[in-house]
Formats: sequence, C-alpha cells, structure tokens
Amino acid sequence: MTPDLRAMTIDEAELFAVAQGWPRFRGEQIWRWVHEKRVRSFDEMTNLGAATRARLHEVATIGCLTVAEVQTSRDGTRKLRLVTRDGQSIESVLIPAGDKTTQCISSQVGCAVDCQFCATAKMGLKRNLDAGEIVDQVYLGQRLLAEVDPDRRISNIVYMGMGEPLHNYDNLVTSLRILTHDKGAGLGQRRITVSTSGLVPKLEKLGNETVRPNLAVSLNAPNDQIRDAIMPINRKWNIAKLLGALKAYPLEQRRRITFEYVLLAGVNDSLADAAQLAKLLRTIKCKVNIIPYNPHPEASYARPTPAAVEAFQNECKRLGLSTYLRMPRGDDIDAACGQLANRVNGSPVVPLRIKRTGLPPPPPVE
Ligand code: SF4
Repeated sequence: MTPDLRAMTIDEAELFAVAQGWPRFRGEQIWRWVHEKRVRSFDEMTNLGAATRARLHEVATIGCLTVAEVQTSRDGTRKLRLVTRDGQSIESVLIPAGDKTTQCISSQVGCAVDCQFCATAKMGLKRNLDAGEIVDQVYLGQRLLAEVDPDRRISNIVYMGMGEPLHNYDNLVTSLRILTHDKGAGLGQRRITVSTSGLVPKLEKLGNETVRPNLAVSLNAPNDQIRDAIMPINRKWNIAKLLGALKAYPLEQRRRITFEYVLLAGVNDSLADAAQLAKLLRTIKCKVNIIPYNPHPEASYARPTPAAVEAFQNECKRLGLSTYLRMPRGDDIDAACGQLANRVNGSPVVPLRIKRTGLPPPPPVE
C-alpha cells in the first residue's frame, strides 16, 4: 500500500520527500497543501511541477473520507456518516452553541470497551482509524460548516465519538500533532479534549507527550460495584487505580480533569451515589459533566426524571463538587452522547452485534 500523506506528521512528510530524492522543504510544501489548504488530490497542488505531481500519484495517496449522509437535528446539531476507503462507516457530530461549534470525532470503527449504556459498544471493534481518517473528519466538518456560513470555524474538538482513543494510541497522538501544528490546522491544545474510559497505562503515557490535550474521563459510578456492572473495563483498572493515574497526570496550570457521569435511573443516580461521588473526587482538580442517559434500542436503561437529575446535581454541589448539566444535543437523530451506531432514521445502516442478555466477559484490553 502506498503511504498516505494525510496520516503523516510534517516531519514524516519531510522524510518521505527526502526518500524520493527531493529536497526536504518539498515535504513541508506537500504537507501544507494537505493540512493547511486541505486539498483532496495531488492535481490541486498547483505550485508543484507536473513531474512531481505525476510522481506523487505513483508513490503516495491522500486518504479521504467520503460523506455518505448528513442528518440535521431540530436543535441544529448535525451528524455526519462518513465512509472510509475500505467501506467502513463512522460518525462525527457538529454541535453549534452560540457562535462556537464543537466537533465530536471518532477514533475507531466501533469500540471494544463495551460500556453497557453505549450504542457504539454494540458494534464491537472493527478497526482503528488511522491518523488521516481522524483528521479528515475535522476537515470535512469544517467544509460543511463553511457551506452554510463561510466565517464559522470549528472552535473545539472532542474525541468522544465512536471508539476509545487510548486503544488507538499512536494514531491518536499523530492526529493531535497534525491538528495542533501551526503550519496545518493550528488548533490550540486547550481546544481539544480526549475522552477515555480509563486505560491507566496509556493515561500515564499520554502525560509524557509534548502535545497534551484536555482530558475527560468517563467515570459514571461512585464505586467499583456499580462501575464493574456498567463498565467492564473497571475490572482491569478499578477506580482506585484510575484516580491514582489521574492524580499523577501532569495537568497544566488552570486546567482541570473533566469527569463524565452518565446518569442512569435507579443505577447511579441516588443522593447516596452523589455523596459518594463528591467524597471520591474531593482531592482531584476536576469538574463533573452530568449527562442524563440518552436512550437507544440496544440498552434497557432509563433516563432519570428531571427532578431526580436536579436533586443529584444539587447534592453534588452542596458537597462542593463542581458540576455541569449536559442536556442532550441531537438525540432525535441518534447523535447524542452514547448513541452513535451508524443509525439513519432510527435504523442501523450496518449490522450491530446480537443483543446480549447478561454482562459480557471483560473486553480485550491492552
Ligand atoms: S462509551 Fe466510549 S469507550 Fe465506552 S463503549 Fe462507548 S465508545 Fe467505547
């Protein structure tokens, strides 16, 4: 397979150019066409000679996703179904809020982590996305925004779509290097958030990278008993191990860890759960996003009543925990948190795994 220039860092593109017998600067020139001007074919690289473009056609590709569907929610959220070169479907979501737009991107086709409340889990893991497939979601998302309003830019990126980003570690880090490079998309690290279910060794590794995004952790439980039941990954890295890794994570000044807490009626939403959560997190610089569960056909959980959600949040606040209520965005098009499973008009466009009846064995984790 020919190398994909979309998946290369600028340094790799320069090495690629040297390997072709070209000067090093040619690599940067080509890389900027792909990541700054975001062309989708070598023929658009108009300051390269015809012979160079012809050679590029022979020795490289520019990996491109294609837009298969765009669904628009009544609240303005748009869900993109994107197809990879090998025919896999992934989803990405554009979420407008005032003059800002956040894009939620995928890191894998499906997911192996098997959180019990998540529709993506029911797809199983098909494969990792390469770095080019991760960044092209942003480029296509920006292109779509510009069609409606040429001045509107994607302001924030969250790796919270399909997949566990830390299960695809190398491509995650490469994509971060590409998106934050000032000769490419130039996104600030503070505008990017990586969300994880809590792969402790990879969290430790991420803390040593030069590129360091915001960190969000999908916690969803105040104790191991509940977390074991809804997130099988907890059997491998329990809450104590997870919080230990987070305490050691080198947070930059004025940054906090975000915990996500999907509120499931009768499972993790009692006042006692709120009190236990506040106690658990009191020594960590953090905030908690409370996300009332977004229903989907593959799980039988229920969303707590608005009164129960309010009571839970009030109890957290009373005990000193900083919390934010995240109401669903795009839930009418299955675009809300935990609903991504390649569904169009409520029906999956690719088959999901057979519905389970009990807790599965622990997922394959590194
Ligand atoms: S919540 Fe995230 S980590 Fe858990 S199964 Fe869904 S996509 Fe995977």
